[in-house]
Amino acid sequence: MDLNDHIERVLWTEEQLAERISELASQITQDFKNSSLSSSSSSFPVIVGVATGAFLFLADLVRKIKLPVTIDFIRAESYGSGTKSNCSPRISCDLKLDVQGKHVILVEDIVDTGNTLFCLIGHLKSKGASSISVCTLLDKPSRRKVNFELVGDGKFYCGFECPDYFVVGYGFDYAELYRNLPFVGVLKTELYK
Ligand code: 5GP
Ligand code: MG
Ligand code: MG
Repeated sequence: MDLNDHIERVLWTEEQLAERISELASQITQDFKNSSLSSSSSSFPVIVGVATGAFLFLADLVRKIKLPVTIDFIRAESYGSGTKSNCSPRISCDLKLDVQGKHVILVEDIVDTGNTLFCLIGHLKSKGASSISVCTLLDKPSRRKVNFELVGDGKFYCGFECPDYFVVGYGFDYAELYRNLPFVGVLKTELYK
């Protein structure tokens, strides 16, 4: 069975993702270039990717951001290998960079219940980030349980609103598989255990 045969339907093609990610990157470039957020050179943003899901999104996004940025990753365990959210994620791999006094842009694959972002924003705030923005590829607002607050002049960037499907591809996994698909889609139901 070919990898593409595992997919029931494609929600966003490679081309659609690339186009939207370019728009997000332009918006971020504009916002962090013009606003008081980056009036001094020490305040260029720190891009923090949430591992593992955001790795492709981050890689494509940062190549379109026309500003000097630093890049780091953080890992929060919330899902295990299933499709149900765990309510209290924990940080299992912390940042290497110091974010004290920095403008942080958290890059996420998807905001679902909001638990992961609530946890990560609290953590970065306690490390003294002066603003925290969120850039998520997908958002499932219909499933929100926890409302997180951005910090300082932080902004919310979102690629697409996602219908209530469990998606795979372009970083999204099911049991750690399918992250390497170049599009976002829905698995055939017979493949869920
Ligand atoms: P939250 O803490 O907001 O409920 O969930 C966030 C995390 O759950 C995401 O970062 C992602 O790892 C995982 N997640 C939520 N919805 C989906 C989905 O549709 N597909 C996959 N593969 N992961 C999801
Ligand atoms: Mg994630
Ligand atoms: Mg996962």
